[in-house]
Amino acid sequence: MKRALFFVALFIAAVFAFRAITRTAVIPTAMSMISTTPAVRPYAPHPYYSRTDTSRVVLPDSVWKRVLPEVVYDVARQGNTERQFTGKYWNHDGNGTYFCAACGNALFRSDAKFAASCGWPSFFEPVRRNSVTYHSDFSYGMVRTEVQCGRCGAHLGHLFEDGPQPTGKRYCMNSAVLDFEPDTGQR
Ligand code: FE
Repeated sequence: MKRALFFVALFIAAVFAFRAITRTAVIPTAMSMISTTPAVRPYAPHPYYSRTDTSRVVLPDSVWKRVLPEVVYDVARQGNTERQFTGKYWNHDGNGTYFCAACGNALFRSDAKFAASCGWPSFFEPVRRNSVTYHSDFSYGMVRTEVQCGRCGAHLGHLFEDGPQPTGKRYCMNSAVLDFEPDTGQR
């Protein structure tokens, strides 16, 4: 009888010990997932942002609206254009890379940036051929080529044929959808 009671007590103790262990183990694991996802440099403003993953990001508009700052959302997902000479990069200088502010995709290098008088940051070529995609835009009674981020489809700006050599292209971009990261040692 005493032996049976001992085993019952042992079983109850084991159940409580198991519950205590799982309770303390599960919560820190979930917390650490939140704080370390995704593991990208130099920062990750939302879980779909990455400067290393170039795979396509397709999200419903409701998610973009939740994870993007309003100023980024308005340009990236609504196709709005910032007022000329107001963006942070139209006359910005320095060696580094310009990333998509919506998803982290590398878009342009500073050595492809030129001093355009249009009031928006302008580049003569993207960092990779598929960094951006091109789409016909017939809005406002004009025929233009819209430039979107090749990873997330964010509206970036338009492409014009009046740029400098060697390409003759002018990627006229919105500062709001760009993030500049200086090269190492340039901070
Ligand atoms: Fe993007």
